[in-house]
Amino acid sequence: MTGKSSHAATRFCLLCDEQEGLQRGTRSSLAQLCRVIQKVKQDRKELRSSSLDLLRDCQGQQQDCGSEIVTAVQGAQRHHEAVLAWQSKAGCLEQSLRETTERYQLEKQKRKQLHNRLVELKGNIRVHCRIRPALPFDKESEDPLSQNSSVSAEVAHAVDDETVLVRWDRPGHPWINKTYNFERVYGPAESQRVVFEEVCPLLTSLLDGYNVCIMAYGQTGSGKSYTMMGPHSRKEPVLPVESQGDLGIIPRAAEELFRLISENPSRSPKVAVSVVEVYNNDIFDLLAKDSCAVTSGVKREVLTTKAGKKEIPSLTYESVHSTEEFLTLVDGRLRLRAKHATLVHADSSRSHLIITVTLTTAPSWDSPANRQSDVSLLKEPDCPSPRQPATGRRHSAAHRTSSWSPGAAPEGPTGHMEQVHAKLQLVDLAGSECAGVSGVTGAALRETSFINRSLAALADVLGALSERRGHVPYRNSKLTHLLQDVLGGDAKLLVILCVSPCRKHAAETLQSLGFGTRARQVQRGPARAGRVAPRTPR
Ligand code: ADP
Ligand code: MG
Repeated sequence: MTGKSSHAATRFCLLCDEQEGLQRGTRSSLAQLCRVIQKVKQDRKELRSSSLDLLRDCQGQQQDCGSEIVTAVQGAQRHHEAVLAWQSKAGCLEQSLRETTERYQLEKQKRKQLHNRLVELKGNIRVHCRIRPALPFDKESEDPLSQNSSVSAEVAHAVDDETVLVRWDRPGHPWINKTYNFERVYGPAESQRVVFEEVCPLLTSLLDGYNVCIMAYGQTGSGKSYTMMGPHSRKEPVLPVESQGDLGIIPRAAEELFRLISENPSRSPKVAVSVVEVYNNDIFDLLAKDSCAVTSGVKREVLTTKAGKKEIPSLTYESVHSTEEFLTLVDGRLRLRAKHATLVHADSSRSHLIITVTLTTAPSWDSPANRQSDVSLLKEPDCPSPRQPATGRRHSAAHRTSSWSPGAAPEGPTGHMEQVHAKLQLVDLAGSECAGVSGVTGAALRETSFINRSLAALADVLGALSERRGHVPYRNSKLTHLLQDVLGGDAKLLVILCVSPCRKHAAETLQSLGFGTRARQVQRGPARAGRVAPRTPR
């Protein structure tokens, strides 16, 4: 038993040892676990505090962002209000700009009317300037300088409707940058209709009894005949004017004249036309017929009447009663006009053309019976022939034409003298040209010299008139002698300067603009109505 007990005690001791070992292990594990728990607790605490910090940060940032957003929204609202305010201000400004522009246009119109009145009171000559577009034939013989793309091929520009600017840059010459002012400036894009709109009021003046003269001046090929008549290649001369957009001043003036006459049949004046050309300083009557009734142009002279007026005795006038009659007559006679091709212009007119439309009050002649007989006579076949040397040709006053001049008005069937109401002169001058540029020789060179001399005489007359010299050299050329009443008298004279925009024509353009400037300076004494006092019977 003792043995057994000691064995049991030993086992018990072993078990106790084991138990003790286990207890130690458990205690150390417990201590470890406690440490881990402490650590986790610590971590959790830290995490909590950092989460709280983060949350506080977020809240702070959210608050900041919120206030920023509120500020931005308020700012945007303020901007929107400011934009609305600016918009309404811009609307007001636009409105006032529109009103100012309208007022400006009205004032400009008024200024123009006043200027026109001033021109009338001073007896000045109105000058318009038309710059034609650059045309294909300008390029054909373009000078080498303008082939260079850096040098502009166009030197004359319409800055506005009253100003022409010439910018001409020539190597070795001073640079020209000059402006010229005229009553009206037409740019290359402005149509025949626009040009006529400006001219049209003169026709009302014509019917009011004023003498009117419209004259185209400029270099060969600058658009004088185009402006006065229209394009050369017109096929059908008697189509209604409104159906031919590019018709010039003469057909449009004829239409306006007959329109105005038809508006007031009670005063309906009789309309008679004469067509004259000044060629090589001789005056030819393009309506006159020779002894065989062939139209070819008969030489005439200018005389001064007792009243001091210039007249062409025995000048042929034809009565016309409609635009169509007028155009048929004028178109037929224009074929007789002297022409010659030059390097500048293939269809260059070599003479000054003067179409005179005379209005006479002729109550007895205006009866339907008389009108009928005139029309039937005008319908006789017309056979124009090429122009021949006209010197010494005998004038035959065929019964369908009247051979009288305004100074010697014809007698009507009742024996009463007709009374000249007013005269309209439409002048297409021959073009000034430099012989070197136009390349003419022989007879054409002689023509050029006559043309240039007569144009120089015209410039001299204007110079003398503008300087109010005692002697005005009207007699230096047939052209100025013939136009003396118009240039120095009381007619409403409109000079249309036609210029080419091209640099190769710049010298001629400057010359034409200088001529126009001089013409504007002419003061011919107060303009008066050109009504002629009733004539006493012969
Ligand atoms: P001018 O009579 O001055 O010698 P033209 O009137 O015969 O010159 O014009 C020369 C050429 O230029 C013509 O072929 C004409 O049709 C053309 N022309 C002139 N002016 C214009 C214009 N404004 N628009 C279009 N063509 C024009
Ligand atoms: Mg011409």
